[in-house]
Amino acid sequence: MKDIKSIVRISSNETIGCKHCPKTINGIDNFEESVNHYIVEHDYRIIHVGTETVIYPADGSLFHTTVAVLGL
Ligand SMILES: [Zn+2]
Repeated sequence: MKDIKSIVRISSNETIGCKHCPKTINGIDNFEESVNHYIVEHDYRIIHVGTETVIYPADGSLFHTTVAVLGL
């Protein structure tokens, strides 16, 4: 772990830009491709995959998202 210089977090609930290139990281519609993009294009490795509990603001209900943390 001490070799890691950078981490990214990909959530199945978020669409964000890639940290290193112009690609859109669409975790909502394509979680696997988003993770693979960092692995294949930018040499990241998976550090952690898990779930997060998120509160939906409109009505306070809870739902779960899948989160991947990758390190370079
Ligand atoms: Zn990229």
